[in-house]
Amino acid sequence: MIEHLPDRLDLYAMAEAGRELRGRIDLASMERLLPLLSSPEGTLQVTLELGKSHDGTRYISGTIKGALRLHCQRCLESMEYPLDVDFQLGLVRSEEEMGKLPDRFEPLLVSQEPTCIADLVSDEVLLTLPIVALHTDMKQCQELAADYHTPDAGQRENPFAVLAQLKQKH
Ligand SMILES: [Zn+2]
Repeated sequence: MIEHLPDRLDLYAMAEAGRELRGRIDLASMERLLPLLSSPEGTLQVTLELGKSHDGTRYISGTIKGALRLHCQRCLESMEYPLDVDFQLGLVRSEEEMGKLPDRFEPLLVSQEPTCIADLVSDEVLLTLPIVALHTDMKQCQELAADYHTPDAGQRENPFAVLAQLKQKH
């Protein structure tokens, strides 16, 4: 086990050699993920096991653990989104190879080596994110809305107050 993740990795060579790597990646370095985050602070714990299966497939078996901060689409405040991702990628160099890949692997088209590890991990995280992120309990949204918006809410009607009135009528 190598206790360090380099920025870039020659995936085919590492799979050929059979290597395991483990380390942390700063969220701030994950350019493809950053636009979705409400905060760039924090790191993800990543393990990558690279090897060659009995049928000759070069693969990456990996895990990503940690948490992100996303914007709740109901109240627009920040929310924690825990991550616990497992993935099995089969390395391919062409669409033809992709067609021959055993079903248990998702294809990873390796067009340029060495491969950027932050991009690889970002893509796996993006696949697991919800289309619409929401606080699990609407009460959290109400509390956050009350904390942040009460002083300058002015005369505008609080949408949650309207909801409460509707509920009382029925
Ligand atoms: Zn919310």
